[in-house]
Amino acid sequence: MTAIRGATTISQDTAEEIRTETARLLSELVRANSLDISQVLCIFFSSTQDVTAIYPAKAAREAGFVSCALFSCMEPPIAGSLPLCIRVMIQTEQKIELPKYVYLNEAVRLRKDISEVINVAIDGPAGSGKSTVARLLAKKLNILFMDTGATYRAYALGCLRLGADPADEASVAKVADQISVDVTYDGTQHTFLNGEDVSDKIRTPEVSMAASTVSKIGFVREKMVALQQEVARKGSCVLEGRDIGTKVLPDARFKFFVTASPEERAKRRFLQDRKKGGSESMEEILADIIARDRQDETRAISPLVCAPDAEYVDTSNMSVDEVVSCLLRKIQEKI
Ligand code: C5P
Repeated sequence: MTAIRGATTISQDTAEEIRTETARLLSELVRANSLDISQVLCIFFSSTQDVTAIYPAKAAREAGFVSCALFSCMEPPIAGSLPLCIRVMIQTEQKIELPKYVYLNEAVRLRKDISEVINVAIDGPAGSGKSTVARLLAKKLNILFMDTGATYRAYALGCLRLGADPADEASVAKVADQISVDVTYDGTQHTFLNGEDVSDKIRTPEVSMAASTVSKIGFVREKMVALQQEVARKGSCVLEGRDIGTKVLPDARFKFFVTASPEERAKRRFLQDRKKGGSESMEEILADIIARDRQDETRAISPLVCAPDAEYVDTSNMSVDEVVSCLLRKIQEKI
């Protein structure tokens, strides 16, 4: 079951306005969530006390919502609240991972987090927990999450499969036109290499290191950055990587640099890997993290640095939930 919220306002309390605006709100909600009217189970309306000409539920019936349950109620008067406002909650049995809420007319002011495009840039070193944090944050904000590292990983896997040396620019250039990376979203990110979903295959230590190596090459970065910017252009999102705040989305409204000590990061990755049946020792993981840090921080193009306007968040002594709440608070303070 999914509940989808929305609201609109009317300019005067007439039956005609209530009919028109209710119908528009419902049709936008249905369209934005790819629903068919028959998939709507029930609709709850609440309106401010100055909406009296007809019940929005009646307007919904007239607009064709004939097979679902409808309910209208009046809100108590609240000083300073938006006048002539109709709020709605639609319920459907369809499972919608990211429901699209719709706020129209003056009601857009109620949800600036929805009406404005929000881009959140989260950068940080390997194992800092930024992926987990970014994923949870995007879920709380009900916006898309992009793991940009996965694009470099897929590119690196392409090089390895084609026998190109990720450290040798000329060797990578020779196979470049045989490597195509793409991403799709259905609640989670799927990363494709030449049309094959390689989301799981790119999570090996060999691909990790090859991704860090191949990401030093200028033309590889240009391609991946263009793909990432294209995803971000389509709407609000949280992008996580190494150069999001500095290069991919330099104008992002919110920027964070999430990090922790190498030892703490190695410990987290060790525990995570163990759960998945990994066999790398803590020492191996720490060495890999230190090597990748060095490579990411010292490369000539887009090295890993904290953007001057990013908030630096040291998570060494914080739980994942604490980090997510901290970032969410900082975002909500500014919206
Ligand atoms: O984040 P993840 O560990 O999956 O990234 C793999 C590698 O891709 C990193 O070590 C880094 O070198 C590179 N990368 C990058 N820019 C990004 C994301 C990842 O250079 N935005």
